[in-house]
Amino acid sequence: MEIRSIGVIGAGAMGTGIAHVCALAGYDVMLVDVDAERARKGVEKIGRNMERQVRRALITDAERADGLARIQVVADYAAMGKCDVVIEAATEKEAIKKEIFAKLTETLKPEAIICSNTSSIPITRLAAATDRPEKFMGMHFMNPVPLMKLVELIRGLATDADTYETIRKLSEKLGKTTASSEDFPAFIVNRILLPMINEAVYALYEGVGNVESIDTAMKLGANHPMGPLELADFIGLDICLSVMQVLYDGLADSKYRPCPLLAKYVEAGWLGRKTGKGFYDYSGDEPVPTR
Ligand code: NAD
Repeated sequence: MEIRSIGVIGAGAMGTGIAHVCALAGYDVMLVDVDAERARKGVEKIGRNMERQVRRALITDAERADGLARIQVVADYAAMGKCDVVIEAATEKEAIKKEIFAKLTETLKPEAIICSNTSSIPITRLAAATDRPEKFMGMHFMNPVPLMKLVELIRGLATDADTYETIRKLSEKLGKTTASSEDFPAFIVNRILLPMINEAVYALYEGVGNVESIDTAMKLGANHPMGPLELADFIGLDICLSVMQVLYDGLADSKYRPCPLLAKYVEAGWLGRKTGKGFYDYSGDEPVPTR
């Protein structure tokens, strides 16, 4: 199947990034959000991000203008009925996603493929809630989408070979490199990354090192571009905790036990950059460690 038009559901951090890369790759994009204002602001944000790419000579001004013109905000799923592929990037709640798929498939053409960008909900379970489990799979982009090269591709139990191949080729057209993951909790990147972050929080909790020494040790000693606690603040501590919970519940192994200190920070509402405070306080010019 040749893909021409792509529907994107959810205009948050991920949905706007996905719409951005799809439009620049030449696809017609329809963007929908339950909150129309978020969709409108999302397109403004895409415009600003594309302007930054022009300033850095990554794209031309004509490419920016063409790309932006290809993105259309739509009011409902019915408007996406003729899309070839729909990528769902709405809030990470199973009930919300299932409700979206139920409404979407009322009007979506039967040959269209549906992908979910979920970080942690089993693809097979989401697929089973649609009318086309064989044309459903996980397409897990990384944040920020325009900058991050990887897309994890996850087959559900029923996903057919054509669907997988079509989405693999689409990912390449978007300029991404793919890694194939089986449908197990948190897939590959988060399965490995989050336990490392959780271990860094344990090291902090047990007093092995303070925030600064843990991050410096991993940046200079393991050559990581960001320290694990700095990275946790960037991801959001609530998200880190929920991924650990998914691993702990899904694999029933005590090695995934979320660190109590991580839970404490989330209880305090210290969720990282997005709330201005996490393992660092971001209220001044420079981030200051909170422990
Ligand atoms: P976000 O909170 O920034 O955006 C979610 C958007 O979905 C919001 O604009 C919200 O209004 C919208 N929404 C909620 N219900 C909706 C509905 N019924 N119909 C249409 N839109 C609806 O979240 P995000 O960080 O962009 O994450 C979106 C998805 O991507 C989640 O499944 C998340 O697990 C996944 N993901 C996130 C990251 C990340 O680092 N943020 C990375 C990879 C994958």
